[in-house]
Amino acid sequence: MAIYPGAEYRPLGPQTEPRMSAHNILCFHTMVGTLAGTDNMFDDDGYYGTESHFGVGGSSDGKRDGHVIQWQDTAFGADANYEGKGDVISVETSDGGDPDQEWSPQQLDALVELGVWVCRTHRIPAVLIPDTKPGRRGIAYHRQGCDHSSSYQPNGWPYDAWRVPGGRRWSTALGKTCPGDVRIQQLVDTVIPRIAAHLRGAPSKPDSNDRIEDLMSHILVPAGGESEKKLAFHPIALDPTRKWRVTIAPGVDRGVYIASINTWKNQDEKVGRVSTSDPGGIGAVTKDCFIQEHAGRRFDIGDGVAKLDLAYWSDRPFSVQVTPR
Ligand SMILES: [Zn+2]
Repeated sequence: MAIYPGAEYRPLGPQTEPRMSAHNILCFHTMVGTLAGTDNMFDDDGYYGTESHFGVGGSSDGKRDGHVIQWQDTAFGADANYEGKGDVISVETSDGGDPDQEWSPQQLDALVELGVWVCRTHRIPAVLIPDTKPGRRGIAYHRQGCDHSSSYQPNGWPYDAWRVPGGRRWSTALGKTCPGDVRIQQLVDTVIPRIAAHLRGAPSKPDSNDRIEDLMSHILVPAGGESEKKLAFHPIALDPTRKWRVTIAPGVDRGVYIASINTWKNQDEKVGRVSTSDPGGIGAVTKDCFIQEHAGRRFDIGDGVAKLDLAYWSDRPFSVQVTPR
């Protein structure tokens, strides 16, 4: 049984849903409605109807902006993610009927706190999953498991990703854009980095029992980009109160082209390009560098950096390890 202490727990009646088989993904939705309207709708049909695990109020909900309702214990499934029912935890977010409405500041704070609790409780990594193929673990938005019409040309990962061949179906509807472009951008740029920074956060006491392994994270960066001129980008959130060591490891039988790595103090203010503690190989790590197979490249980040931005090109996913130093 897992009930979020920050939520108003409102079970929908006698439990009829099967137990979750795993807790692999935290998925974000938009309500196309208000918190009260969604609460009424879920309550009408109990667990026989559709429901999500959580709902978070927004600016259209007055005093309940940032208010969290939990409708379903995370030990049990919820219907919002269709084929993902067995391993996806779902969060509905109020938009007052307008999916282009931004998440409000209170709503963002509530989503981050809820996300930290879900990721800690169920050991889910705070990274955006590349697609909905079985075995993925991380954070997602609903559109990643939806099919688009044949005429639509998606802009691709991370902001406009749709179901890929072999990916689980998260809806029977065609062209479902949930949770909308504005909220997807907030999820990728703000919510996930903030959750990740909390999870890597500085221990409350410097000499507490926090183990290095708990602060370390492995980030799987998806394949992306097409050439030196057509790059993919991947943000990595860091806790700015610490110093970090970052290792890029392309793995066996592959290489990664890194065009640049930029560091940011916050979402808007750039610090500069990182310098490497381990120069060598072909090119500097910060600019036009090809990291070959077996040749992991390491560089150190000073404190005061809240985000890294990787500009790269790779035809396979590759791993980035972040360790405190
Ligand atoms: Zn949805």
